[in-house]
Amino acid sequence: IGANLARAVERFPDREALVDVASGRRWTYAGFGAAVDELARALLASGVERGDRVGIWAVNCPEWVLVQYATARVGAIMVNINPAYRAQELAYVLDQAGVSLLVASLAHKASDYRALVEEVRARCPALRETVYIGDASWDALVARATPELSADLAAREALLSCDDPVNIQYTSGTTGFPKGATLSHHNILNNGFSVGETLAYTERDRICLPVPFYHCFGMVMGNLAATSHGACVVIPAPSFDPAATLRAVQQERCTSLYGVPTMFIAELNLPDFAAHDLSSLRTGIMAGSPCPVEVMKRVVAEMNMAEVSICYGMTETSPVSTQTRRDDDLERRTGTVGRALPHVEVKVVDPVSGVTLPRGEAGELHTRGYGVMLGYWNDPERTAEVIDAARWMRTGDLAVMREDGYVRIVGRIKDMIIRGGENVYPREIEEFLYGHPKIADVQVVGVPDERYGEEVLACVVPRDPADPPTYEEIAAYCRDRLAHYKVPRRVEVLDAFPMTVSGKVRKVELRERYGRPD
Ligand code: ATP
Ligand code: MG
Repeated sequence: IGANLARAVERFPDREALVDVASGRRWTYAGFGAAVDELARALLASGVERGDRVGIWAVNCPEWVLVQYATARVGAIMVNINPAYRAQELAYVLDQAGVSLLVASLAHKASDYRALVEEVRARCPALRETVYIGDASWDALVARATPELSADLAAREALLSCDDPVNIQYTSGTTGFPKGATLSHHNILNNGFSVGETLAYTERDRICLPVPFYHCFGMVMGNLAATSHGACVVIPAPSFDPAATLRAVQQERCTSLYGVPTMFIAELNLPDFAAHDLSSLRTGIMAGSPCPVEVMKRVVAEMNMAEVSICYGMTETSPVSTQTRRDDDLERRTGTVGRALPHVEVKVVDPVSGVTLPRGEAGELHTRGYGVMLGYWNDPERTAEVIDAARWMRTGDLAVMREDGYVRIVGRIKDMIIRGGENVYPREIEEFLYGHPKIADVQVVGVPDERYGEEVLACVVPRDPADPPTYEEIAAYCRDRLAHYKVPRRVEVLDAFPMTVSGKVRKVELRERYGRPD
């Protein structure tokens, strides 16, 4: 990763590398490379050894990216910590990963990071030092970098291998407690490069990233894809803000915009959406959870993102396994998650027997290639549950491989509803309900039912809160167009869904909330 950045600095010294819209700070590649170099020397001066874990617990800001590259250059393992964590979760991660140096935000919205660190410090014996961004402790850290340390830094870099772990990245925690995927330089750098290659990034691209850096979507598909092609990263705001995102695209003339589906939905539904000049956009990525066809079509037509791509992947595979291509037709680009990236294999197997299924049949998706993680940090048992002897990774997702090699994700195995013996895939019903004029966003989950085992519940966010769809309207909309067992038996209207910080709907929470008997 260090060598990759050095190459970008050499090739594009005067091109912009990073822009922070909130603070107005900007770096060229030359300036960014120098700032990373300084921070790397400061880490050496602070006693960071090869393989030491350095935690980053911060909302999106330029320092996050500096820490990403500086830790890689000294051979440390950066541990991404979810900025929404509270004390107990923080203590768990610090302790599980053995973090010795922590870099944290000071405060953001309701979170006082310093107070939370103080609260857990006694429980985390490995933690030697905490540095806060935008505080005197950050300046004091950087001030430790002396010019003489350049030789030490070069000596350290000469020891490193591309197969060294560089990152412990926790999964989103959509289906349960997050797991720490240990990833190497080789794992994530190749993936970032490949994703950028598919989008045809060059040094003229400017990528607007409203997705959190703490997740692989931001740090690999965003930051590493950018440096691999000399493109610029634009940070619209410390955490997702739809209005700030569109403003940043307009102001910074961004060519690419990322988001999970709910982010694009929020942007498209802004009351003054049409007032923004999005003419600079050409491409972008929608990923992370099922990407509704309707939303994809609106992004293409209304956001000027003719070349927008869908990626499918998971933290454990660095993350992307399949991606749609610019020259795919609209049907493939909106209705599938694309085909395998170069040097990645995918297959669909019977989840019980493990036998590869014929094309067109639904089963569990398995994937193999350079992106498969080294393993879950300090957890060989769980690693063995998901990676087999031939290094195939089981994704836990149900998929169909079409005749043309394109993959459709049917849903997560854990989300499948079994109603009276029929398998119901929430995704299919959600896709259908997105077409209802009164529905802005919808999630379908199974809730316990005495008669059928499980029943179909639709949770909807209305387009107009003053005029939500009624149960009768939704049932009438579905009648004769969906098989009877797929028609929701219950509808709940919400203002917003419970989300992970990476922007995924926590269906687990919806099931808990509405699945209990009254
Ligand atoms: P956890 O493993 O902690 O429950 P998570 O699986 O959401 O959380 P991530 O690694 O962030 O954590 O997400 C990977 C998952 O996201 C995939 O397994 C898949 O279910 C879903 N996903 C990612 N991209 C897509 C996509 N384009 N379409 C459908 N689902 C997707
Ligand atoms: Mg997962």
